[in-house]
Amino acid sequence: MYLKSIEVHGFKSFANKLKFQFHNGITGIVGPNGSGKSNVGDAVRWVLGEQSVKQLRGSNMQDVIFSGTENRKPLGSAMVSITLDNSDHQLPVDYNEVTVTRRLYRSGESEYLINGTACRLRDVKELFYDTGIGKEGYSIIGQGQIDKILNGKPEERRELFDEAAGIVKFKRRKLSAQKKLEDENNNLTRINDILSELT
Ligand code: ATP
Repeated sequence: MYLKSIEVHGFKSFANKLKFQFHNGITGIVGPNGSGKSNVGDAVRWVLGEQSVKQLRGSNMQDVIFSGTENRKPLGSAMVSITLDNSDHQLPVDYNEVTVTRRLYRSGESEYLINGTACRLRDVKELFYDTGIGKEGYSIIGQGQIDKILNGKPEERRELFDEAAGIVKFKRRKLSAQKKLEDENNNLTRINDILSELT
């Protein structure tokens, strides 16, 4: 699996629709200060479901929408799509190519799509569990993040190892099953209360 392309439109400094195409191997993005190199990384984080405006270097989520320049009006929405080559089927879907899209409008309305079909943020997260690609994965290492990992709490470091070992999805499923069990136990307690009131 590898990142084939990133398409941006109205995201941060990228007012025009723009497609970055990558090949299997190493790609470097170079440019003067402030030209938008980090915005490319932000775009990938964002489309993978980043909810923290701090991580995206803004003060509210609408800050990712192109805010205009002296010569150009602000835009009403931001869109990012990433396309991954999935011919090795590392992502648990039948498609050889997977495109994930996120859109946000100034009204606050937003949407996620997988291969053009609307989905929930949760579906995007589940698609990338245990691949190292999700927003909590280790595929994007930002400035200062190595220090954060080295100095982080053991539990935080453990999460990275869990992701690399491919057990995150099982842990999530266990948590969700435990939650269901707990809910069912509460229902049973309630039914028993009602029964004892009736008898
Ligand atoms: P450096 O080399 O200094 O780290 P960089 O190439 O990584 O710089 P970025 O931080 O990616 O640059 O881009 C910063 C630029 O993006 C700034 O010029 C900023 O004005 C612009 N920018 C950020 N958000 C928006 C937005 N919503 N609308 C328009 N421009 C934006």
